[in-house]
Amino acid sequence: CGVIGYIGSNATPEFFYNGLKRLEYRGYDSAGIAMMNSDGVFIQRAEGKLNNLQNKLANLPASTRIGIGHTRWATHGKPTESNAHPHRSENIVLLHNGIIENYKSLKDFLITKGYKFQSETDTEVAAHLLNYEYKKLAEEKNSFERIKKAIFSLVSQIHGAFAFGILCTDVPDTLFVIKYGSPIVLGLGKNENYMASGITALVDHTRSIIIMEDKEIAFLNAESISIVDFAGKEVLRKPIEISWST
Ligand code: GLU
Repeated sequence: CGVIGYIGSNATPEFFYNGLKRLEYRGYDSAGIAMMNSDGVFIQRAEGKLNNLQNKLANLPASTRIGIGHTRWATHGKPTESNAHPHRSENIVLLHNGIIENYKSLKDFLITKGYKFQSETDTEVAAHLLNYEYKKLAEEKNSFERIKKAIFSLVSQIHGAFAFGILCTDVPDTLFVIKYGSPIVLGLGKNENYMASGITALVDHTRSIIIMEDKEIAFLNAESISIVDFAGKEVLRKPIEISWST
């Protein structure tokens, strides 16, 4: 129900935790954080209150350059640790706000392709489907172009409402964000950039905000943000300056 993401020089477990705390008012039943560095992807998840996740923050790296966090309001599958986001499918780590309406037929298809599901969520379907599309594009040697093409395939196949935050282990300098139906804002910092489901999660860090619109995909690097629409057309949008305090 809440999402937060960061790319820059200093992503800490506390950053993600505090951001999720700021989004707590929206309600949630479980939570999780994924952080990535050259040693791999570290994921911690917990059912129930954010305090349960707080107790696990020490299992995460003290600092990385990229990560994502999530509070879940279950729509498909009970509020358990294994259903909590982020979900991983090999090179893909993904979290989601919203509902994938056609998850059942996609799940049946992915099972025929050999995918094993670890959760009961609609979201895990998106993780495996993105992985499936990514693998199909093996002839594309540029990993950024490869995951970008796979993301376009993903959004052409899923129906419903979604805001996704995505990490790809082959492209560790980019945070991928997709918006359709669920809210997402991007925050611009100095050599660091952010994403969240609400501005309140970001105001301690930046006042420079881009509000994403439906059918948009954002690519966040530490130094820059670029946005395209689902047709692949570049979107140019100036940030707005937030003056209110919390
Ligand atoms: N539909 C997803 C799930 O049940 C995401 C729910 C949410 O928006 O938190 O896991």
